[in-house]
Amino acid sequence: MLSNLIGGKWREPRGARSVPLFNPATGEVIEQTPLSSAAEVEDAVAAAVRAWPGWAATPVLERTRLMFSYKTVLERHFEELAAIVTRNHGKTLEEARGEVRRGIEVVDFACSAPTLLQGRTLRAVSTAIDQDYYRYPLGVVGGIVPFNFPVMIPLWMFPLALVSGNTFVLKPSERTPLGAVRLAELLTDAGFPDGVLNLVHGAAETVNAMLAAPEVRAISFVGSEPAARHVYQESARHGKRVQAAGGAKNHIFVLPDTDWDMATSAIINSAFGNAGERCLAGSVAVAIGEAADQLVPRLEAAARKLKLGPGDDPAVDMGPLVADDHRLRVLGHIERAAAQGADLVVDGRAPEYVQRPGFFVGPTIVDRVTPAMAAGREEIFGPVLSISRVKDVREAINLVNRLPLGNMAAVFTGSGRAARQFRDEVECGMIGINVGVAQPLAFYPFTGWKSSFYGDLHLQGSDGIEFYTRKKIVVSRW
Ligand code: NAD
Repeated sequence: MLSNLIGGKWREPRGARSVPLFNPATGEVIEQTPLSSAAEVEDAVAAAVRAWPGWAATPVLERTRLMFSYKTVLERHFEELAAIVTRNHGKTLEEARGEVRRGIEVVDFACSAPTLLQGRTLRAVSTAIDQDYYRYPLGVVGGIVPFNFPVMIPLWMFPLALVSGNTFVLKPSERTPLGAVRLAELLTDAGFPDGVLNLVHGAAETVNAMLAAPEVRAISFVGSEPAARHVYQESARHGKRVQAAGGAKNHIFVLPDTDWDMATSAIINSAFGNAGERCLAGSVAVAIGEAADQLVPRLEAAARKLKLGPGDDPAVDMGPLVADDHRLRVLGHIERAAAQGADLVVDGRAPEYVQRPGFFVGPTIVDRVTPAMAAGREEIFGPVLSISRVKDVREAINLVNRLPLGNMAAVFTGSGRAARQFRDEVECGMIGINVGVAQPLAFYPFTGWKSSFYGDLHLQGSDGIEFYTRKKIVVSRW
């Protein structure tokens, strides 16, 4: 059974309740994740409260030096972290390396704390009066993360929170906690003091205890839409600052004037990379005008070439899904799409895909999907690409804007005019133009819109620093 990190010590969980952890490529149970009680959350919060005054008083240059040291330690353990991600999540090693790199980039960004944490000053706002603001940390911050980026998403949160002078309680995903555990061990190796980062395993009940704890001043959350909404509402009810990133249903527009090779490989990567378990995954390709005639056969040919298998085999393009219940959910979606009248172009339920040990579903393409069908509306979070056919850009934009989620949308076209109209009118917070996965790098915020995000300050980038600090205005007369 995994342990919780409380005040610098790894402690055995007090209760016996746990959930099994799998290697999704084989289906084997590799560990047990404890479901920690409210009392264990209280212990972790108390440790973070104790560590806070000393940490907040540590000069910013010293906090930054420790962050540089963490960066060095993470680089040294880069391959090990990627291997942990592959073993616990299932994605290919190449995808895992990409994830670890994106996560370390947030640590790189956190190393600019002496610039990021500066306040502002205006002298002589009135006769002999100056105004300044300073940034102060909030205190104890809680972070709750999803299963699909077990190293990157914790790194969106705690490096920026810590370097800003807060202490942190992290609740990893109960399905993929091993990356977070290693990140916490390496933070200790880098020299961070005890209690600055605490880690409590568990699921919804553990999260609810964090949301209710009065000493936790702010919550960073990433996960599905219903959980994000719940966390946002509960955090607000308990008077906390909150940023809650939720689910996605990302559309990729394809115009007939596109560069077909570029569009095909980018859409295949967007839909099937990470086995579709990505909040920036392209879920619906929207073929505009005549585009379907070219698009569908090209996507079909490319999807059929993808090699499925364990993520640590370098020849493999796509790994398994994270868990068997999730695999069954995705298979149910494919069945429902077919039953609702969509055309199955590539069927990921074929025996060569699913009859292997582990939680595999093959790449799936379903054509002639409409928003009235579940496959056109609901997040599937698996390797299923829907194709919708519309007459023009206007109809495509309306189709996306009617949906409640608004994480990402992308367009493939040779027309600057169409791209510009798309950029301005589509109601999603992240936009790809001839790019299939529009991921903001560490120094930009991760800006989902509508029900894909609850709150106002997003994760990472300058929004992250804003979120983890509060401003104090000083008006002085001399
Ligand atoms: P999830 O919502 O099931 O779990 C996320 C976290 O919330 C976990 O730590 C879990 O223990 C906790 N949780 C789950 N249900 C809860 C509840 N009712 N009350 C309190 N806590 C609860 O999400 P997941 O399946 O781990 O991750 C996949 C989802 O995350 C997808 O919907 C995906 O789009 C989304 N996601 C979003 C982003 C983004 O930036 N918008 C990034 C990655 C993943």
